[in-house]
Order: sequence, then C-alpha cells, then structure tokens
Amino acid sequence: MCAIICENTDFFAIFAIVFADFENMMDFNTIERFDKIATPFYYYDMDLFRKTVDHVAELASQHNLKVHYAIKANVERRLLEYISSKGFGADCVSGNEVLHAHDCGFPGGKIVYAGVGKSDKEIYNALMLDIEAFNCESLQEIYVINEMAHRYGKKANVSVRINPDIDAHTHKYVTTGLYENKFGISQHEFEKLIEIIGKSEHINFIGLHFHVGSQITRVSEVFALECKRVNEIVAYFERNGLKVGNINLGGGLGVDYDDPDGSPIADFETWFRTISENIVRRPDQKVHVEPGRSLVAQCATLISRVLFVKSGETKNFLIMDAGMNDLIRPALYGAYHKIENLSAEMRTFFPTHQAYDIVGPVCESSDVWGAGRLLPLSVRGDLMAIRSTGAYGQVMASRYNMKDLAPSVFSDRLDEAPVMTDYFE
Ligand SMILES: *Cc1c(COP(=O)(O)O)cnc(C)c1O
Repeated sequence: MCAIICENTDFFAIFAIVFADFENMMDFNTIERFDKIATPFYYYDMDLFRKTVDHVAELASQHNLKVHYAIKANVERRLLEYISSKGFGADCVSGNEVLHAHDCGFPGGKIVYAGVGKSDKEIYNALMLDIEAFNCESLQEIYVINEMAHRYGKKANVSVRINPDIDAHTHKYVTTGLYENKFGISQHEFEKLIEIIGKSEHINFIGLHFHVGSQITRVSEVFALECKRVNEIVAYFERNGLKVGNINLGGGLGVDYDDPDGSPIADFETWFRTISENIVRRPDQKVHVEPGRSLVAQCATLISRVLFVKSGETKNFLIMDAGMNDLIRPALYGAYHKIENLSAEMRTFFPTHQAYDIVGPVCESSDVWGAGRLLPLSVRGDLMAIRSTGAYGQVMASRYNMKDLAPSVFSDRLDEAPVMTDYFE
C-alpha cells in the first residue's frame, strides 16, 4: 500500500518489510512493559499457546488420534490446566510428574507413565491413581508391577514399550528407538515377553508403545517407516494371542528453531496425516500420539538483559543475565536458539549490525548462547529475546552458582510480573 501512495517508494517498502517482520514477534507496547520487569524471565505468549493446542485438538479429532501431552517438556501449571481442559491425556516419565499431572486436572484414567527406571514408591503412587497405563520398558519391570498390584489389590494396566530399531535422523542425544539405546524391549525378548504377560494375573495388557526420537524434521519419511515397523510388530503380537487395543506411536515432531515467526505452529497436519495413511488399525484399536516439544516450544521466550558489552582481543562479547542455569540446551546439546535485541529494534529501524559472542554469567566456558551472532549494536541494559524456549527450558533449569530461577510471566497477566529495581535511582 505504502509503495503505491508514497513518493519515496524504496524507503517505505523497506519500512513496511522491517515493520511487518517486527510485528510478528512482539508489539512495542509489550516490549515497553518488559522494561519494568526483573530479568531473566520466561515470557509466555498465551494466545499462541492456546491456538496451538486448539489446532492440535481439532486435527486429532479429524484423524481419530488420541493425544497425550508429554509433560516433561514443560510442567507449568497454567499450560497443563489448559491442556487437560481440552481432554488431552498426559504422558509422564516420573512419579512426581504423574502426581503433578493429576493435580493439574488430568484424571488417572488419562495418565500414562513411561520411563526405564520406576521406583517402588513411584509405582505405588501410580497404582493408587489407577492410571491408564504403565508403559513398561523391561521384563523385570512387568514382573515387579504385577507383584505390587497383587500386594495392593489392584489390576495394573500395562502397555509394553518396544524398541523398533529405527533411525529417526535426529540428534544422537534425542534418538531413542535404536537397539543401542536404553529404551524399550527388543525383538530377541518377544517370546519371553509374551510368556510373562500370559502368566501375570494382576496386569491388564492393553497395548504397545513405541518412541523413536525427538525433534524429528523428516516427518513423512520417519513416521511412515515407524508405522510400517509398528504394523509388523502389532501383527506379530496378535498372531501370538495378545490383543493390542492401544497403539502408542511416540516420536516427537520437530519445531522450527531457525524461524519461530515463520512457523509458530509446527506441522501437525503432515504428522497426523502420515500416521493415518500408514497405520493399519481395526475400528476398535486406538492410536495415540504424545507430543511434548511441539505443543509448547514456540510459545515461550526467555527474556534477558545485557549486563556488559566487552571487547575481547578478537571478539565482542555480550554478557547476559540469563545463563545455562536458566536454559541448558545450548550447553548440553549445542542447540540453536534465535536471539534478538528487542531494545535495539525499538531505537531504530535501520540499525548497524555487528557480530557478537553472546554469553551467560555462569562460571563455565560452555555457558554460551551463540557465537558470532550478527545483531544490531547493543548496549548495557538492552532487552534480549532468546526464542523458542517453551520446551525443555524451565523444566531443566537449575540453581547452579546459586542463581535464582527465572519465573514465568504470562502475556495475559503482565501486571503480576516481578518488578525491576533501579539501583541507580
Ligand atoms: C519425551 C517424550 C515424548 C515427547 O517428545 P517430544 O520430542 O518433546 O515431543 C513423548 N513420549 C515419550 C515416551 C517421551 O519420553
């Protein structure tokens, strides 16, 4: 529009592009309000979060899939309460996650509990809640759960996690479905497994569980392959007399860390379509999916301030008040998060850019947010956005160096945010 009515066409075209790009992220008003909030904090875009969950709920009902949210990605109560209110189930990997999910509105009958190492106490608590399923990962675990169910007068629902031996083409730390990984039961134990299930009177065998990895981006290829393997394995178990009521197709959909504004909602469409097209099921068989990261990653941004700008011998450093204690993914997996200088974008539309090594305050050389990142000229006090931090962020935060934990700040409750103290007043 501008380009047509204004004389200085180029200028306004650029203006429109810069402005449009900026508008996607956060409005000026929000950034101005950030200025009064103590950093670092996790900022939750509740509109985007609800939109994502609603979108997934609708697609899942179209494709007749049951969704269990893997709560380990983010256990923030407000998120869990919304997800449970939409009728999703919860996928938990510890006893405390089971209790927390229950506390946030997920009924026992919609909680599944996976994990290679469940303690007796954790099993006991889950038994008392009559959970939907224990996803068992070893023969010995089935034996122990059967014994405990017997002792406490319960019948435990058991789903068995199978290692399908599939390469998910993702980072080696988040690949789970290969024989070299610790997860699931492998083919050489199938006969024994069927025998143990047959002998265990205090369990209900309800289905099979698979999981191949996280941050999967080759969606059609990996999930089509998984479905193919799963069809074979399900058929094998049914031939051997076990009725597989639930097929739980784990494997986490990837999110776009490079361009969070370009793809704020992950490609659930392709994921669900690939599953419906490739899984063989009877009408009474339920198919489950368990997204964690993809439901929550893009809805949170870690907001930090530049404490100091320092020029090293060969590099310029931006030293931030958020560190690896707040978000360990870069230090742990070398993960990439997009970083933006919000204040600089407020100062001018045409900033000069410079390469910075952006680092945290923690006394570890791996406490680096990004090396050689091109950013607008930055100064002490600038507000910085570390994007796509809703998954595996806050849940992995620690108090290393005795740092305080970064709190949650919600877009619809900015008034409740902790206030920044100005020590120069
Ligand atoms: C972690 C986990 C998930 C979620 O994976 P994402 O990649 O975060 O979507 C699902 N199922 C199980 C069993 C898990 O352990």
